[in-house]
Amino acid sequence: MHVIVIGAGVVGVTSAWYLTRDGHEVTVIEAREGVALETSFGNAGGICPGFAGPWAAPGMPLKALGWLFRENAPLKIRPRLDAAQWAWLARFTRNCTSERYAANKTQMQRVAHFSKACLVDLRAETGIRYDDGTGGILQIFCTDEEAAGGARAAHILQDLGVPHRLLTPAEALAVEPSLARSTVSLSGALHLPADETGDCHLFCRDLARLAEAHGCRFLFDSPVSAVLREGDRVAGVMAGATRIEADAVVLATGPWANRLLRPLGLSLPIYPVKGYALTCEITDTEAAPRSSVMDEHSKVMVTRLGKRLRAAGVAELAGFDPSMRPAVLNGLRDRVAALFPDAADFATAEFWHGFRPMTPEGASRVERTRLPNLFLNLGHGSNGWTQACGTGRMLADLVAGRETCLS
Ligand SMILES: Cc1cc2nc3c(=O)[nH]c(=O)nc-3n(C[C@H](O)[C@H](O)[C@H](O)COP(=O)(O)OP(=O)(O)OC[C@H]3O[C@@H](n4cnc5c(N)ncnc54)[C@H](O)[C@@H]3O)c2cc1C
Repeated sequence: MHVIVIGAGVVGVTSAWYLTRDGHEVTVIEAREGVALETSFGNAGGICPGFAGPWAAPGMPLKALGWLFRENAPLKIRPRLDAAQWAWLARFTRNCTSERYAANKTQMQRVAHFSKACLVDLRAETGIRYDDGTGGILQIFCTDEEAAGGARAAHILQDLGVPHRLLTPAEALAVEPSLARSTVSLSGALHLPADETGDCHLFCRDLARLAEAHGCRFLFDSPVSAVLREGDRVAGVMAGATRIEADAVVLATGPWANRLLRPLGLSLPIYPVKGYALTCEITDTEAAPRSSVMDEHSKVMVTRLGKRLRAAGVAELAGFDPSMRPAVLNGLRDRVAALFPDAADFATAEFWHGFRPMTPEGASRVERTRLPNLFLNLGHGSNGWTQACGTGRMLADLVAGRETCLS
């Protein structure tokens, strides 16, 4: 069967890999000049099933209101005359109940742990390397309130059987000795030793090469303008002036999904939530984290990727606004410099932004549409690197008519 995958971010590339391994003829069509040049390019590098969970949580609406007028807030809503933004926020708020939170978290945890197992298998099968690390993730708390939140999270992790340990500040320093130089005072930490790290862009680049070696075809610089419908099925796509026919089409277009869905009479509640990152060369290896530190206070994650340090965070709801606000960039750089003062020359940091494809529920959408040969692998939000191998595998299972991890 000829399957077209639209989009070569981490979700499109993993989908293409598993479809190719199932014996399909696969064509990946990507608007940019290479793989993973949008949201999958500069993320925080955390493969963290332990943290997988929705942002829509009890108490979040009040917190978000409190952050409305704080320029450097971790979550910033910039209200616009945009019906999609208001509809998304209303649905997000409806998901902030304890019941919805528990249901969404359980689903996200199932997919994320399944995905980690798929990634481990993929690594064993292919030997793929991507500045990867298996040193776990340390979530640090600066206030007693944050530490209490960590203790509540530990209860949930206990129920889910996820390996974890609540640590005193001294124990946290034993896990990440470089924090001894930090100017930020710690009140405790939560260690998730089974979580992993790695450069998502490098992973996608090499997985695409491996897929090509198995016969998968990549077309770059080829924005798809339409998915072609014939009766109650799709027949292929238009990429520029070229019509490309297929037996099945997969949408893996991240935050841009609705541009192709709406003309088909379909849509998903996916909103682009902008995040920022910085990357710099590590100049003193002892002063940099061994693995990854999630600073609960600022919601900034700092990860070692080979010889580089990556820090990422911030969530802005402002549509596809591409501007990078200097106050946010400075705030990000100042926080990393406070956590790991001697690790790098932060003046030379390279900045980046990306748009998380967020559903209000938090969970991704891997599904067959009512056009039976059109499939979706979308809405991975803040967890796409963590979930991509799992949802790629699930997508291939759906196309093949097999049961998925959520069946
Ligand atoms: C600051 C930040 C930090 C993050 N940190 C983490 C983390 O630590 N761990 C984690 O698990 N996740 C993290 N994420 C989330 C993760 O990066 C995303 O969930 C993931 O990259 C989404 O992948 P995707 O393939 O769905 O989207 P994308 O990577 O955006 O790929 C979609 C692709 O589709 C292409 N496309 C769109 N429309 C068309 C069209 N019409 N024709 C052809 N091509 C098209 C685009 O060009 C793009 O290449 C972070 C995100 C951000 C922004």
